[in-house]
Amino acid sequence: MIDQLKQWVQQSDNIVFFGGAGVSTESGIPDFRSTDGLYYQEYQYPPETILSHTFYEENPLEFFRFYRNKLIYPDAKPNAAHNKLSEWEKQGKLKAVITQNIDGLHQMAGSKEVLELHGSIHRNYCESCGKFYRLQEIMDCDGIPTCSCGGRIKPDVVLYEEGLDSNILSRSLNYIRHADVLIVAGTSLAVYPAAGLLQYYTGNHLVLINKTPTPYDANADLLIQGKIGEVLSQL
Ligand code: NAD
Repeated sequence: MIDQLKQWVQQSDNIVFFGGAGVSTESGIPDFRSTDGLYYQEYQYPPETILSHTFYEENPLEFFRFYRNKLIYPDAKPNAAHNKLSEWEKQGKLKAVITQNIDGLHQMAGSKEVLELHGSIHRNYCESCGKFYRLQEIMDCDGIPTCSCGGRIKPDVVLYEEGLDSNILSRSLNYIRHADVLIVAGTSLAVYPAAGLLQYYTGNHLVLINKTPTPYDANADLLIQGKIGEVLSQL
C-alpha cells in the first residue's frame, strides 16, 4: 500500500491534500471524535454546542473559557505530516493544503498555499472597529477579550451555524477538481460542508489515510488505516 502511494507521489506534480484534526494529533492537539478527543472530555456542554454562534453570542464568557482551555495549544509544533507536505510543495509536487484545522501548523512547517476552511486561532478581529489581534494577546487577557475601542474581539474561526468563506471554498474546490492525486487524511468526514468537497474530485488516485473508518472509505482508490505522520514519514 505504501509502495502504491509512493509511486503516485513520485509521478505527480499536482497533489492536493485535504486534512482535518487528525493531522495535528501527533503534535499533541486532540481531535474531536477520537476516544481521547475533545468530545469525550468533561465539560458542561458538548463542544459542538459551545462552539456554535448562538452560544458565542449568549455565553461569551463560557465560550472563551472553553476556547482558551481546549482549542489553543501555543507550544504545539508541526509533525512529520506537516513537514512532508511542506517539502512536497517546495519540490513542486503539491499544489495546496486544504485544512479544517485552525492551529496554523501547516504554515509553521513552511507550507505556503494553505486554505483554512475553518479559519485560524492566529487571527482575531474587533467586532466593532476591525482591529487585528495576535493569538498572544487573546491568551494574555482573562475573560472576554476586549479591544482598545471597547468592542469584543472574535477569533477568526468558523463556528457551527456560521458560513464558510466563499473565496476559500471556491479556491479549494478548484484545486480538488483539477487534482491528479488527492490525499485525504485525519478527518472523520463528518463536518459539512467541508466533507462535501470530496465529491468534486474526478481523478482516480483518491488516497484516504485515517486511523478509523470514514463514510468515504468505499470511494478511496487507496485506503490506509494508520497514523498520518507515521505513514507520510515512510515516503
Ligand atoms: P474529527 O475529530 O471529527 O476527526 C478526526 C479523525 O482523524 C478521526 O476519524 C480520527 O480517527 C482521525 N485521526 C486522529 N488522529 C489521527 C492520526 N494521527 N492519523 C490519522 N488519522 C487520525 O476531526 P475533523 O474531521 O477535522 O472535524 C472536526 C472539526 O474540529 C474541524 O472542523 C476542525 O476545524 C476542528 N478541530 C480542529 C483542531 C485543530 O485545529 N487541530 C482540533 C480539533 C478540532
